[in-house]
Amino acid sequence: MADLIQLHDLQFQPFISAEQIARRIAELGQSLSKDLEGKNPLFIAVLNGAYVFTADLLRAFEGNCDVSFVKLASYQGVSSTGKINTLIGLNNELKGRHVVLVEDIVDSGLTMKNLRIQVLEKAPASVTIVSLLVKPEELQVPLDLPYVGFEIPPLFVVGYGMDYNEHGRNLPDIWQLKPS
Ligand code: 5GP
Repeated sequence: MADLIQLHDLQFQPFISAEQIARRIAELGQSLSKDLEGKNPLFIAVLNGAYVFTADLLRAFEGNCDVSFVKLASYQGVSSTGKINTLIGLNNELKGRHVVLVEDIVDSGLTMKNLRIQVLEKAPASVTIVSLLVKPEELQVPLDLPYVGFEIPPLFVVGYGMDYNEHGRNLPDIWQLKPS
């Protein structure tokens, strides 16, 4: 890994390596496989950020499952706006399904709270959340987060699907904004 990378006007330093991510996802995959055994869960991934995590997490899941993608963004630039945009793409029949919402990072928690409410309206058998990262100090709403990859301080991060103004999603490692 390089010492520093530049995306647009900002510099980022190494934070979580691809190896650490892979190890943690293997563990999350094992827990989910055990807890959802025989339940044919429907993974609903939140685009764009969660696409890389979802691809790896699903390959670490043993057993039958379905996957679907939705878009619901509340984030622009490097700080949460708190504004929830419209949900696009929730077309599946959710009644009676065991739904797993897949997120890259939970910050204020508003995105997941909002999505969870919309999913619950469709009468699933259960709804749980798996997030690669969570910033516990930033949470503004109570949220049950049973499957978390890493708890991180309130930093802005990029890589492994996460962007800064659309750059950085393709980086295999996770980088943090360099303190100025
Ligand atoms: P929340 O609704 O929990 O405040 O925000 C969740 C969404 O904000 C995530 O899906 C992600 O797209 C974005 N987000 C939150 N923190 C970060 C961060 O540190 N880096 C990036 N790239 N996106 C973030």
